Amino acid sequence: MRILLTNDDGILAPGLLAMYRELTRLGDVTIVAPTTPQSAVGHAISVAQPLFCQEIDVAEGVRGHSVDGRPADCVKLALLELLKSHPPDLVVSGINNGENIGINLLYSGTVAAAIEGAFYGLPAIAVSLAYSTRMDFHAAARLARGLIQQILAAAGRDRFLLNLNIPDLAAGPPKGLRVCRMGVNSTEEALLRRSDPRGRPYFWITGGLVPTGRRDTQVDQFALADGYVTLTPLQFDLTDSARLPALAAWPLRLPEM
Ligand code: MN
Repeated sequence: MRILLTNDDGILAPGLLAMYRELTRLGDVTIVAPTTPQSAVGHAISVAQPLFCQEIDVAEGVRGHSVDGRPADCVKLALLELLKSHPPDLVVSGINNGENIGINLLYSGTVAAAIEGAFYGLPAIAVSLAYSTRMDFHAAARLARGLIQQILAAAGRDRFLLNLNIPDLAAGPPKGLRVCRMGVNSTEEALLRRSDPRGRPYFWITGGLVPTGRRDTQVDQFALADGYVTLTPLQFDLTDSARLPALAAWPLRLPEM
């Protein structure tokens, strides 16, 4: 089995290396990842800049393609060029340094890279570990690899696009696995206003993780906080299919030109 491994924290991030070491037990792993941290760039791609790419030592005995671009760029470059002659069977993105749950999926570079793989018809999974002061990427990678093995066996020839989140493992083993929805509760956000050394104001977006509103344990935001590993199937068709017939029935006409 051939696996493309990418992330949004940058090619030298510890979560990527931990995932690499575990995935090599499943097959040949090629690392194609951003040169610099790209968290929260979402599904951005580089259209006005060149994509410089060079092979570097990620760790002793581990080589990887370092791409001066976004996570989605890395997947495009890998599939359209670097791995053209021997395409991967699976795209893995992560392990991200921090959870990717709720509406943060829309900002996530980690998730975007997995979606990009799915655009190309490949099974893909985004893997994230909840923030804590002691990120145990090795344990998280072991857990993720064990689940990915089972997912591959269960899916057979079916494609999948999945979002996997692992709770803080330093707090003890996970309570279990919860297959659940992406939460759409809004989160407590704040803009910090500060002043630079010249007295000019600047703003810093903060928060965005703690959900507000009704507590639904069947969505990723609350299940993860409760100590469960969460697994969510994703799709990238943004059409609101349920509303499509009602919209089509509205008496809309093109204005006269
Ligand atoms: Mn990240």
